[in-house]
Amino acid sequence: MERRKFIKRLSLTALGICTVQGLGTRLFASGDSGTTVHVVSSGDTLSHIARRNGVSVAAIKRANGLNGDLIRVGQRLRIPGNGSGSHLAAVRSEVDVPNFNASRWKNIIAHHSATGNGNAAIFDRFHRRHRNMPNGLGYHFIIGNGTNSEDGEIEVGPRWTRQIQGGHVRSLAHNNNSIGICLVGNFENTRPSSNQISALKELVLYLKNDKLGGNCRFLVHRELETTLCPGRHFPLQEMHRLFG
Ligand SMILES: [Zn+2]
Repeated sequence: MERRKFIKRLSLTALGICTVQGLGTRLFASGDSGTTVHVVSSGDTLSHIARRNGVSVAAIKRANGLNGDLIRVGQRLRIPGNGSGSHLAAVRSEVDVPNFNASRWKNIIAHHSATGNGNAAIFDRFHRRHRNMPNGLGYHFIIGNGTNSEDGEIEVGPRWTRQIQGGHVRSLAHNNNSIGICLVGNFENTRPSSNQISALKELVLYLKNDKLGGNCRFLVHRELETTLCPGRHFPLQEMHRLFG
């Protein structure tokens, strides 16, 4: 029942907005970002808290000006974002594929899913079953919105792992040379979350600068084809200020 509702919603939006395709295995989870606060409860130790939050004990001590390891129940601790601050950190090893084909990628194209919810596995299923896309998930990356994956979680799709063409735009030429990143959400109606935007920034900066030496363009879908994607609430100008 749940699923039928899902598919229905996806079909509606897929008609008019974004051409998603779909194979996809859900590969990875991640996701933390800025500083959060942890209130110490009975039995907590710095090392437990550090492990649970994916940061080092030293980082927590630094963020709170602690000299020793003593903490007390009720104490509020600032928990810094993990190592690189980042949504990307958890999947960086997956982004760094051994078969990376730098010469292939000329563009990075951002999309929204035009659905309220979803994740790589759901879009993959939809595209395989309803769009007959044997390679599944048309995007190379999905950035979750907290519905079917974490808010800001980056999922790496099989097309990235395999370094094969996308299925995220109509143009064959652009599918062949463009990395597709899809943020879950319908940004005609709502804004992307701040976690989604920071994950997107991190991912695009890493792909563009670190992986491709700056040699690629950042675009959103509607700058290429007639579509509303990625919606009027997508922060287009901010992204172009950052990425050119
Ligand atoms: Zn799109």
